[in-house]
Amino acid sequence: MKLHQVPTPAYIIDEARLEKNLKILAKVQEEAGCKVLLAQKAYSLYATYPLISQYLSGTTASGLYEARLGREEFGGEVHVFAPAFKDSDIDQVLEVSDHIVFNSERQLRQHLEKCRAAGISVGLRINPEHSTQGDHALYDPCAPGSRFGVTLDKVSPELVSLVDGLHFHTLCEQDADDLAATLKVVEDKFGGYLHQVKWLNMGGGHHVTREGYQLDLLISEIKRIKETYNLEVYIEPGEAIALNAGYLATEVLDIVENGIETLILDASATCHMPDVLEMPYRPTLRDGFEAGEKAHTYRLSSNTCLTGDVIGDYSFENPVEIGDRLYFEDMAIYSFVKNNTFNGIGLPSLYLMKEDGDCQLIKAFGYEDFKGRLS
Ligand SMILES: *Cc1c(COP(=O)(O)O)cnc(C)c1O
Repeated sequence: MKLHQVPTPAYIIDEARLEKNLKILAKVQEEAGCKVLLAQKAYSLYATYPLISQYLSGTTASGLYEARLGREEFGGEVHVFAPAFKDSDIDQVLEVSDHIVFNSERQLRQHLEKCRAAGISVGLRINPEHSTQGDHALYDPCAPGSRFGVTLDKVSPELVSLVDGLHFHTLCEQDADDLAATLKVVEDKFGGYLHQVKWLNMGGGHHVTREGYQLDLLISEIKRIKETYNLEVYIEPGEAIALNAGYLATEVLDIVENGIETLILDASATCHMPDVLEMPYRPTLRDGFEAGEKAHTYRLSSNTCLTGDVIGDYSFENPVEIGDRLYFEDMAIYSFVKNNTFNGIGLPSLYLMKEDGDCQLIKAFGYEDFKGRLS
């Protein structure tokens, strides 16, 4: 079916856009000689893993379930990082992983023996304490007091001798100049240790597929690090894999006039695009403009009972009518992976749009998915 026929609410993955991103990431892999992993926490639509795995080297996981999904559906290397691993989970984690990264010395020592017995490559997350993010404390692992990674004062040659690699993750939607600045600090502080290890994982937050991203700088920095320290380099972007490669289709159910005209949609910020409230940000809307820019301004809101479930104020060239369809852009990442059924709101179905525009249903959800998580 065509995009305008897809029943709402639905996420539609644009396969051509996804593949365009993958080609850029494959070029980075090839030219820099590094490995690029899919960070599944941003995007885990595994129906598309057969496509993604043609281009990338593997997946990274935030814990047991994502690691298992990567092993079962993607193939390639499986990396896993978590602030802590439970004793009751660790055997299963090791069974499905190739690399495991620990967040603290205590965690490392607690699980090291089992990792060695399982033949897993072991890493330690470092915290370079160098913030490049400005005002996004919620997404800044280098913010003061952050629980992420071991700081320089807690690292010793003996500690590093226990691991095969080091890992840092400090970026969020950033360009390669911020990576270069971070690397300079990592080298100044941890350079001696980099000579000691076999690999360096530079985490995610590299907005590689965004227009204007400094690809050449990323590639030259990775090559420089590889050569200087004689190690293997990994990056594990999430966003960049499916950036601008998906839409959320929704329908206008009613228009409420209480001082401002509010569109009641069958999509919700809190259920279907929680980053709009958490990050927060204003999603791009197809044919939608800044409030007041065009003749007809509306507040876009949802069918839940949360007053603050507001997506934003947008203007349109023509009046919006009940039954109209709207499309939010860039909805493949940090969207359906975060969905919930608050208010008993249904989960949007998942579609794949092929290159010729044909939209194919991947999965639809119903009452059983709501009921099944409760008891
Ligand atoms: C979130 C995260 C990523 C992916 O980050 P993006 O911003 O989606 O690229 C990679 N590695 C780690 C450790 C993360 O926490």
